[in-house]
Amino acid sequence: MIGGEVRLDDLPLREDLRGRSPYGAPQLDVPVRLNTNENPYPPPRELADDVTTAAAEIAKGLHRYPDRDAVALRTDLAAYLTTSTGVRVELGNVWAANGSNEILQQLLQAFGGPGRTAIGFEPSYSMHPIIAAGTRTEWLPAPRRDDFSLDTRAAAEIVADRQPDVVFVTSPNNPTGQSVPLDDVREILRAAQGIVVVDEAYAEFSSRQSALCLLEEFPSTLVVSRTMSKAFAFAGGRLGYLAAAPAIVDALQLVRLPYHLSSLTQAAARAALAHADQTLASVATLAKERDRVVDALSGMGFRVVPSDANFVLFGHFTDAHAAWQSYVDNGVLIRDVGIAHHLRVTVGTPEENDAFLAASKELAP
Ligand code: PMP
Repeated sequence: MIGGEVRLDDLPLREDLRGRSPYGAPQLDVPVRLNTNENPYPPPRELADDVTTAAAEIAKGLHRYPDRDAVALRTDLAAYLTTSTGVRVELGNVWAANGSNEILQQLLQAFGGPGRTAIGFEPSYSMHPIIAAGTRTEWLPAPRRDDFSLDTRAAAEIVADRQPDVVFVTSPNNPTGQSVPLDDVREILRAAQGIVVVDEAYAEFSSRQSALCLLEEFPSTLVVSRTMSKAFAFAGGRLGYLAAAPAIVDALQLVRLPYHLSSLTQAAARAALAHADQTLASVATLAKERDRVVDALSGMGFRVVPSDANFVLFGHFTDAHAAWQSYVDNGVLIRDVGIAHHLRVTVGTPEENDAFLAASKELAP
């Protein structure tokens, strides 16, 4: 291949990126894929038809740039948040991007960066430190308890002590599954002077109240980040969003690329949002399946971390990576998230979960 002899090490790469690993959930072609916390149910036929119709309409105007401010889509997202949380969110409170990863990146571009710090309570979402590195924000890893729950008092103390520019609170937490109660988020917000990003990628799966309820109390520091990749069954559409004070949305205008959300993305996301009731009906099914998977794994003797999301962290494996490979050999792709002796499985359809549970029997402690 042209240029194939050039090695990464030969490039004039930023020193701080040398030796780092990219995000790398394996994309393997196996029958049962339970490794990236997607909704296993494809979009309903009506939704797919509406996306097709919307795309056909948009195609006639593709010579023009999209609405840079994505007003119609943000209005729809605000209406969805208002209905689902009871907190009155308006267009000016919402910002949208290509997946919540881009939202998080824009937040770190605006509020992190060289000479600034961001803190997260690990293990948590692996992209938080990667996006911090990409934006040259110093990453401060803080621990969770041994059972992976968040020690709120310790968290608030470290935030008060280090005063990071950005705090990440993931609720429900990926890859461990537990939500952070509202009072605990409040305690962290009270300790923080920087921006507190509550990453609610899995909020729809949780019965806990959204941190949106705290927006009025902490308008200058709280940001709630959401995505359509999980409960909304729209991972391929790439649509993430946030709710915050309008000034925070203004701040992100300084770093976002112009026209970052294509007309096709905006139209497809609006079509998907119009079918939210249908798509989100799968959430209850998945929660039931999650509980079934948890019970079955516990029954086999695995230790299972309580989950409020559409995935489950479980162990205890002597060699988690070898166990992961055995699942793959049985046609089941789950995730080795790098936590010793543990693996994470996404809740799938009943058939997929059965295949996973059958493979688990062979590996039970
Ligand atoms: N936050 C968390 C906690 C996640 O688990 C994920 C996806 N794995 C994201 C954000 C990003 O998702 P997306 O970019 O698809 O919105």
